[in-house]
Amino acid sequence: MSDPVMRDKIDVSQIRDEPISEGRFPAAYPCMDFRVWIASDAHQRVLAHAQTNTQVELCGVLIGQVQRDAFGPFAVVEDIIEGKHAQNQGAQVTFTQDTWSHIFAEADQRHQGKRIIGWYHTHPGFGIFLSPMDMFIQENFFNLPWQVAFVVDPLAGKEGMFVWRNGEAAPAGQYWVGDHLQIADQPVALRRETPASKHKEPEPHQTSTLRARSIAWDIVQMVLLFLLVVLVSLLCITQRKEIRSLYNDIRAKVSSSAPGNDSESAKTVPEPGK
Ligand SMILES: [Zn+2]
Repeated sequence: MSDPVMRDKIDVSQIRDEPISEGRFPAAYPCMDFRVWIASDAHQRVLAHAQTNTQVELCGVLIGQVQRDAFGPFAVVEDIIEGKHAQNQGAQVTFTQDTWSHIFAEADQRHQGKRIIGWYHTHPGFGIFLSPMDMFIQENFFNLPWQVAFVVDPLAGKEGMFVWRNGEAAPAGQYWVGDHLQIADQPVALRRETPASKHKEPEPHQTSTLRARSIAWDIVQMVLLFLLVVLVSLLCITQRKEIRSLYNDIRAKVSSSAPGNDSESAKTVPEPGK
């Protein structure tokens, strides 16, 4: 899937072309869209793994199956395989050759006939999004239309699910953990942001101060605008007076320099037709 044209097409809607079996969706909320369900104990294992080290990113894969019912296709995550030997360089995690060897050995031994539904990794303290490196991993290792990315922030207590939409790994909006429907909150939408560029929302107690400053700045701007208008008007009036006196001067000079036509005689010369 190194071809970017191929990559742009990945979308959960392509699951209808996959040879998947009929099944019963484990939760009680049907919907027409692609659904992702995680077993409660698998979810607990992800959270427990995330807590083992909150200094670096940790990763693993989600194991389960893809099925369909009357409402469409869905993915069921039944278990996880922790990503051993992953490279954790601060805010990045990388699947190494040893990580994959361990995952495939575990999958062969304990999860015969199951599929890798996607991957999970942690963002300790910097929220729910997919970085460019995360997208690289998603595009190169989890590029089947039903493969998902699950992100957990163990310090903020937040998590988010991403699914393929028109070539992008987009927030799922909703997914199920056991019987519980998880509705994505706003931080999930902050994808593709790096920790360094992370936008910091103002704290609630700062908001009123910021609003007061904004109003004060508006008043200052209005006063400055008013002064500017007054200044321009004064300049115009002054210039009009100067132009008028200049005009008068020129007229006087022209009148006086014309031969036999001084201002006195000009006034006494009758106009034609009178
Ligand atoms: Zn990440």
